[in-house]
Amino acid sequence: MTNLQIRKKIIQLCLQMNSSGLNQGTSGNISARYKDSMLITPSGIPYENLIPKDIAEVSLGDGELDWNGPYKPSSEWHFHRAILNAKPELDAVIHTHSTFATVVSIAREDIPACHYMIAAFGGNTVRCANYETFGTPELSQAIAVAMQDRSACLLANHGMIAAGKDLDNAMWAAVELETLAKQYYYAKLGGNMQILPDEEMDRVIEKFKSYGQKDK
Ligand code: 13P
Ligand code: ZN
Repeated sequence: MTNLQIRKKIIQLCLQMNSSGLNQGTSGNISARYKDSMLITPSGIPYENLIPKDIAEVSLGDGELDWNGPYKPSSEWHFHRAILNAKPELDAVIHTHSTFATVVSIAREDIPACHYMIAAFGGNTVRCANYETFGTPELSQAIAVAMQDRSACLLANHGMIAAGKDLDNAMWAAVELETLAKQYYYAKLGGNMQILPDEEMDRVIEKFKSYGQKDK
């Protein structure tokens, strides 16, 4: 995708995540890799007002924030940059305050293998990162621990992150993670929750490698 196409796609997904109820207000943020930079939503601007040139461009180089744009980038640029640098196979990152993922994050619980779809995130849990103040490098470090061998995590008392190989895949993952959190929440309320054993999850994780059209 061109730089402009990525900017347009980020805005389209921002509008979609709010209109679908996955996110609300100016909570949440979206980034995507472009060459040696990331394109990321600006901080605190209502998504309805965004036009492509408003999306900030941030260097993926380590160290001080190095950015371009009419507005400063999302306050969460630390973890977007760190995830894109740590996981070269993933090119897009979505952060939301979606309701059920946030409810589970308030209990500071990891989501267990209550449904086989948990394998979509790389293992048999989706971990909850330790609480740290939003927008801090400490939060980014807590997320790095929680996302070890995973493409998603919860953020204690805050929300969730889902990453993907492109923007559409990251949005698919964010919707799946919110669904999983909802299923986990209701299953706990219902009682008698059965967790899938590790050997079954190993089988599912293996099957996921060729799920859909991947091995066409
Ligand atoms: P920004 O508007 O700075 O992206 O912040 C929203 C948010 O979710 C912070 O965690
Ligand atoms: Zn947030």
